[in-house]
This record gives sequence, structure tokens and C-alpha cells, in this order.
Amino acid sequence: MATVKKDDGLRDLKRPSRSDLGAGGRMVKLFRAECQTNRKTGFIGCQDPTKVHPNWRETCPHDPYFRDVERKEIRTKYEDELVDGKPTGRRLVTGTETVVWHERIPNLVQAALSVRINNGMGPTWHLERDSIKPEDHPNDPHKPFCEYRDCFSQDLKYHTPHGNYCSEMQAKIVMADELEKRLEIVNPQKRREQLAAISVR
Ligand SMILES: [Zn+2]
Ligand SMILES: [Zn+2]
Repeated sequence: MATVKKDDGLRDLKRPSRSDLGAGGRMVKLFRAECQTNRKTGFIGCQDPTKVHPNWRETCPHDPYFRDVERKEIRTKYEDELVDGKPTGRRLVTGTETVVWHERIPNLVQAALSVRINNGMGPTWHLERDSIKPEDHPNDPHKPFCEYRDCFSQDLKYHTPHGNYCSEMQAKIVMADELEKRLEIVNPQKRREQLAAISVR
């Protein structure tokens, strides 16, 4: 059993589980430092290549693990259709309004973690260079993310020696990959049997 860090009180972005289970593989999610401030000036914030120094993350005052994205929603405005002062039950479109807001989102990166890929050193390479674990953010720690490729759920229910997952099937597919079991592609019945034989408990 892998150790599971207690994550009460850590932030959960409530992203859905990845629904299609195409290409599997274990990918650890990290927050990468990439200061976005001053992007409009052509420099990417504090890691301005003319000023870069190894400790820039510590001196960047902008929380380089997050960026602001502009969100936009166009809403249609209606009013009730009236005939002789009485609502007909239908509505008239009177125009649209645009709502704009900013959302602070983490710079998420995925690092492959498998003995067959860089000897399992992918996450270490990122952690030494420019990234942190979501739960290690100094003032806004987040729950760890599912380790299935492209799945960003933080609702982790399956804890295996090869990572933590939000769904049993995702856990099994990664386990098969790690145990070097070639999963059947053509025969769905055989694939189901193979997956059923893998224990993630
Ligand atoms: Zn900065
Ligand atoms: Zn997942």
C-alpha cells in the first residue's frame, strides 16, 4: 500500500474523472512555476530569460504556480411576451450580455512515472527543476490528483503501490502497464477478464 497523505482541508478543483480510457499510463500531476506576470510585455514574468537565476521561484512575488485566465460567458436576455397585458408563456429575446471574470488556475503538468520511462525519474526531474506537489503549495495546498494520464480528478478512491486513482478501471489499466501485462485490444471479453484478474486493493 502506498502511503496516503492526509488531505483534509486541501483544495479540490472538482474536475471530473476522465471518462474515455484510451491511452493509459501513470502520470503524476505537479504544479509548475511559470510566472505569467508581464506576459504582455514579451517576458514571461519573473523568469525573464535575461534575468533568470535558479532561485527565481523564491523571489517571485506573484505565486508562479498559478495563472489568471479570462473566462467569458454570453447570456441571452429574455422578457415575457405579453398580449393584452397577459403573459403568453413565451419569451422574447431582447439582447445578450457578456459576463467576463478571471479565474486563478494552477499550472498543471503531468510527469510520467514508470520504471520504463527515465527510470521513474520524471517527477523528480520536475521537482528539482521547477515544480512542486500540489499538496506542498506553501499557502494554497491542493489535494493530490489522480495519476491516470489526463485525469485531473482529486477524488481518489483507489490507492495502489503504483499510484492513487479516482476509478478502479484507471487503477487497473495502470497496474497492467506497470506489471507489463499486455492488455488485449481486439477481444473485449479477454480484456475484461484480464482487468478483472488485476487486484487494486
Ligand atoms: Zn513573478
Ligand atoms: Zn482518475
